[in-house]
Amino acid sequence: MIIKDLHTHTMFSDGKLTPEEVCSIAKAKGYLVGISDHCGEGSFQINSDDQFRHYLQALEGLAVFKSAELDLGTQIAVSPHLLGKCDYLIGGVHSISDLNFFDSQARLPASRAILEQMLGLIETKAQHHRFQILAHPGLLPSKLRPEAGKILDNKWSQRLVELALKYDFALEISSRWELPSYETIQTALKAGVRFSLGSDGHGWDTACRLDYSLEMVEKAGIRPDRIFDAGMLSG
Ligand SMILES: [Zn+2]
Ligand SMILES: [Zn+2]
Repeated sequence: MIIKDLHTHTMFSDGKLTPEEVCSIAKAKGYLVGISDHCGEGSFQINSDDQFRHYLQALEGLAVFKSAELDLGTQIAVSPHLLGKCDYLIGGVHSISDLNFFDSQARLPASRAILEQMLGLIETKAQHHRFQILAHPGLLPSKLRPEAGKILDNKWSQRLVELALKYDFALEISSRWELPSYETIQTALKAGVRFSLGSDGHGWDTACRLDYSLEMVEKAGIRPDRIFDAGMLSG
């Protein structure tokens, strides 16, 4: 199986590497790689056609898949026709209404309510933006992450799997966040969902680090035909 890391970041959003550096890390490991910088509201994200054109230009001619991680909890101002120039798109939940998942001081509603809002957001956005991969499924507000194993229960897995099948997106197996759990992966595998591998790497030590993703592929027995195919590399 050719290993593809389809989720990495560069200096075009909040990563530390240039696209060329991501490319060389992947090459050294013998992986194919996709660059998927953040797109949406917020100072570090790409959110205009001009910025997005500049980003695409920087990826042109490199042996990388072109992608973007759409921040589903915010408004994405990049035109659909420019997003359509990507080889594939990723959707990621980092906030719901006014709750930022990276604010450790935020007051939290009940965890069931958070899950319902996350599922609702994924569904609404999937109807408007075609994304082929859902990033880090089940990423929770920072305070709740230590309890993720308890919070992300069977009911969550079932609902997530239903959405993945209905809107035809692959579930990312994220090495950075060690999500989804092995149990959720098994549920999704049985139901016919496809997967994608992602480091969510932002720097030298994290780009193309796929330890958890590869461990889950092996442990769950995920065959290559069940892994999202980003197509042929151009450039
Ligand atoms: Zn993300
Ligand atoms: Zn990311």
